[in-house]
Order: sequence, then C-alpha cells, then structure tokens
Amino acid sequence: MIYRELGNTGEKVSILGFGAMRFPTIGGKPDQIEEVESNKMLEYAIENGVNYIDTGFPYHSATTTEPGQSEPFIGEFLNRGYREKVLLATKLPSWIIEKKEDMEYYLDLQLKQLGVDQIDFYLIHTIIQDYWNLFKELDLAEFLDNIKSDGRVKYVGFSFHDEFDLLLEVMDHYEWDVAQTQMNYLDENYQSGLEGLKYIGSQNVGNIVMEPLRGGNIVENIPADIMNIWDKSPIKRTPLEWAFQYLYDMEYVDVVLSGMSSLEQVKENIAIANTGYPNTLSDEEKGIIKEVALAYKKKKANGCTQCGYCMPCPEKVDIPNCFKEYNIAMMLDNPEASAMQYFSLIKEESLASNCINCGKCTPHCTQMINIPEELEKVKNLFES
Ligand code: SF4
Ligand code: SF4
Repeated sequence: MIYRELGNTGEKVSILGFGAMRFPTIGGKPDQIEEVESNKMLEYAIENGVNYIDTGFPYHSATTTEPGQSEPFIGEFLNRGYREKVLLATKLPSWIIEKKEDMEYYLDLQLKQLGVDQIDFYLIHTIIQDYWNLFKELDLAEFLDNIKSDGRVKYVGFSFHDEFDLLLEVMDHYEWDVAQTQMNYLDENYQSGLEGLKYIGSQNVGNIVMEPLRGGNIVENIPADIMNIWDKSPIKRTPLEWAFQYLYDMEYVDVVLSGMSSLEQVKENIAIANTGYPNTLSDEEKGIIKEVALAYKKKKANGCTQCGYCMPCPEKVDIPNCFKEYNIAMMLDNPEASAMQYFSLIKEESLASNCINCGKCTPHCTQMINIPEELEKVKNLFES
C-alpha cells in the first residue's frame, strides 16, 4: 500500500480509502447490509493497509433524511479492535440542516451511531450554492471551531459538488483540513474539476477524491471502440487499473475513495494501490487516456458547453445543468445514475419539466441547440 501525507494534518493515509456506501445488501435493500461479507471486506482492507474509512449519515438508508445503516455497522466493526488502526470520516447531512442546533444534533447522533467519542474527519456533506448560503447564515465557522476545540472532531472538511468559483469561496471561508471533490478522467471539467483539485493541493489542504470510477461506469460494460483505444497502449492495463492510475499519478491527490461492493473488488483495488506511485504515466499513456475521454464525450447527446448564455430562463429552468446530467447519462449509457445527480443537484423548480416552450432561450444558444426540444428529451429520460 502506498501512503501519502494528508495536507497539513500530518496524517499518513493510504492512497486507497474505503468508501462505506456500497456494501453488499440483502435482497437489494439499501438499508440491509449483508454483514458477513461486509465484515470480511473491511478486515481484508485494513489488514492490507487501508487506513481511511469514509462513511456518511445517509449511506445505506432507504431515504436521504433517515440515518443509514453504514454508520452503526462501521461503528460496531471498529469497536472489535480496529478503531486505532484507521482514520474515521463521516459527514454532516447538509440537506437536512435548517438551524444552528441541527448541526449539533446530527453530530451528536452520528457520534452515538458510530459508538466513538471522536470522529477523525468530519466533513460538511455535498456543498452546493444553496446549502452554502445557509451555512454562512448559521455561522458554520463557529460550529467548526467548537467541535474541534471540544474534541468531538479532530479535523474538519467538506465534500463538494459545485463549480470552481464556489470552491474558491468555500476554501477561503475557513482553515479546512481536507476537501473532497469528484475526479476521474471524464470529469476534468465537471464541477470544480481539475482546476479545483490543483487548487486544493496548492493550499496544502488534504485532497480527497471521490467517484474515481464514475459510479463504475468507466470500468463496466466498456464499449468496443473504447477498448480498442486502451488496447493500443504498449503497457497493458485493465480499465480499472487505468482509472486508478490516472488519479494516483497526480502527486497532489492524497486519497482516492472507492465504494466497494465485494471482497473481490477490495482485493483488486488494493493490488492496484500497491503500485499507486505519482508521475508514472508516460506522455503516450496520458495521450491514450485523453483519447478515451474524448471518445466517451463524443457519445454525448447534445453539444451543450455549459456556457450559460441561454440563462436566465424566465421559468427558472436550469438549462446548462439539465443538459449536463443528460449528456453524462447518454455518454455512459446509465440514466439511473445520472437521474440521482439530476434530482439531487437541481432544484425541483429548475428541472426540465418546468419549460413552457416559450422559445426565449434558443436564439442565445452558442451551439444552436433547440433547447425546448432537448429539454423535452431530458424530462422524458429522467422525470417520466
Ligand atoms: S423555452 Fe423553456 S427553457 Fe427556454 S426560456 Fe422558455 S421556458 Fe425557459
Ligand atoms: S447557450 Fe446553449 S450551449 Fe450554452 S448553456 Fe445554454 S444550451 Fe448550453
């Protein structure tokens, strides 16, 4: 296992972190973790060097507002002699917070669920503009100061799902220990993207990456044209190895979270993490990764570049983001995964179904997209 120093914290973290949101379940029910297999996965991971475990309030819950089973399951597991061997991370459920006391309430509930006196890394979950506006009103900085000074939390951070400008604002707002953003070779320009990842690294804030496999989409059911590009490489790697090596190659990435669902996946991922050195990819190999990314991107449904010239829509439709999730769904042939993003990142009043076909936006489109017609397709794909 390769270890890297997590920003300014001084903690040495395994390059592969265990994301505790996709354990095997009984009968496909998210709130019923298959505990025997899941215990084996955690034991194997820790015995083979993984020392960062990332859970969250809604993980393995039937809804995002009820406490999930991941935290209590992880708590029970760690209390069987593993607590001192790992760094434990969990997150404050931003979408439920309405007032200052809610932050205290959920942290205390999570400490109880985990059966610990202290959480190593406490992240504000899924920062997007709306949640951030509220957190500023609620004096988040004071809450973070308090929970660090009274010892309930050792380090604080945030996970992020918005654009680079907001990332800069959030980063400047507090002396964070860690920041968690989405990255894989398809997402260099998605949300805060590569620019955000580099900025976090430049500030010496612990740099945690999520979605390294884009929810599994870039390692499963690979189209033949994509496989042909991978096969051109002189150094042969599986799509899984390419996906991880792309991230491990970046020296400013400290830990890559993977939500594993079987013991086999844990073994495969650990084997790759044992070779996870930075700066190992040649220019030719980086070129092949870029070629694969481009081939995926050509599968997009429309050419929206998210320029925003069509905005604002008088009906408040969030045209760029509707198209963003639609294009990703078509590119990866996985509408279910994109639908989750669509409904969680776009407000209900801004979904495609709010379009009344007034046509005011279309003349402004830099890509000459027939916007209402395309929004109809978005609606049919995600909202039907
Ligand atoms: S056509 Fe639809 S998206 Fe475009 S401005 Fe009118 S309501 Fe908004
Ligand atoms: S103007 Fe066209 S390309 Fe730009 S965000 Fe709107 S739909 Fe997309």
